[in-house]
Amino acid sequence: MKRRELIRNLTLLPVAAAVPMESLFAAPPNVVARAAYTSDFDPATNLFTELGVTPIINALVTMTFLSGSLMLPEVLEAIQSTAGDFANMYELQEKAGARIAEMLHAEAAMVTSGAACAMVLGTAACITGKDPQKIKALPNLPGPQKEVIMQKSHRYLFDQQITTCGVKIVDVVGPQEMEKAINANTVMALFFNAADESSVTREEFVAICKRHHIPSFIDAAADVPPVENLFRFQKMGFDLVTFSGGKMLRGPQSAGLLFGRKDLIEAARLNHSPHESPIGRPMKVNKEEIFGMYAALKIYLQKDHKKEWQDWLDRIQFIGDYLKAVPTVVAETRLPDSEANNFPGMTVSWNQQKVKITPEEVSKQLLAGKPSIFAAGRKDKLSIGVVLLKPEQVEIVARRVKEILSAAVV
Ligand SMILES: *Cc1c(COP(=O)(O)O)cnc(C)c1O
Repeated sequence: MKRRELIRNLTLLPVAAAVPMESLFAAPPNVVARAAYTSDFDPATNLFTELGVTPIINALVTMTFLSGSLMLPEVLEAIQSTAGDFANMYELQEKAGARIAEMLHAEAAMVTSGAACAMVLGTAACITGKDPQKIKALPNLPGPQKEVIMQKSHRYLFDQQITTCGVKIVDVVGPQEMEKAINANTVMALFFNAADESSVTREEFVAICKRHHIPSFIDAAADVPPVENLFRFQKMGFDLVTFSGGKMLRGPQSAGLLFGRKDLIEAARLNHSPHESPIGRPMKVNKEEIFGMYAALKIYLQKDHKKEWQDWLDRIQFIGDYLKAVPTVVAETRLPDSEANNFPGMTVSWNQQKVKITPEEVSKQLLAGKPSIFAAGRKDKLSIGVVLLKPEQVEIVARRVKEILSAAVV
């Protein structure tokens, strides 16, 4: 919009018309000014209390329904410190993406609104390239339906992000079937990194895709730690990689990373906000979240991962020692056996003849108690996650579990 038009439009707004023109174009202050005419809103109010929402101690793993993970204080500071100025969103995506790509040894990168958005944008990019007409047409591209190849054992809830782009998923078992399934309509092949079983290994998958010039995409959303995973898949030759920003990276819950081949990332960006019409327009990431995601990644890469791992083991030891006071209780460290949620956790079991309560009932009481604690009651064990606890919550969880079990001793 030209300045002349801007001014003409502004005069239509009664409030703006009353503001001296020079103040509209003055340099913005670097902090967000408190609204001058608002009500009696006190920013120190506990909004959980005001709305009657129960704060929860998460003794599980990162779950979207439990608001993912807690942003690190440094991430919140990054968000706060960037909230006071406008930015050109094209420039911000470009520059944040370039830095993130450098940090991850990838050709290009972008911040998405979560890994689920990255899956939509990555698929869209593979379908449309940079063709504006195709971008405009999604998900109803004319002509034969485009196809995405997946291993049968990799089909999962999140593959609906792929079909959102109007494509059909073709299931395959084994390298030969995968190779045979590729045809002129194939636009992409998706690998679910944390799948329990694979009939095509990552290496075979990449090789087949390369041989047929089909982009390969790997969903590793929940698969840090280990930190090495952030570098592993692009090195293997995957063309696109995604991670959630709001899981163990502890960035904004509605942010994620998509990185890989430059031409595909450029095409993904054309399918995203701030462009007005494409399929990714409703999956906007705000300025603060882009900065916050960048900050979270930077912090994660610098973190002492060994120390953090030891801290988790120490928490498990602490809770286990605490619960020893209850007769027959056995606390065990559970080491990860999957690509996803790859961190230690613990299970607690007891002789249910001597401590007359089921793990399901313990978890119900934990949830209903004050503070409310989410832990998973299984058939014969209580699973306690320790990695999302704030330091002061470790003892709170130990004490509550002990109280509930002690009360059931016969
Ligand atoms: C969590 C998850 C997603 C979705 O990630 P968001 O960042 O929540 O959008 C996709 N795929 C897998 C395997 C996940 O675990």
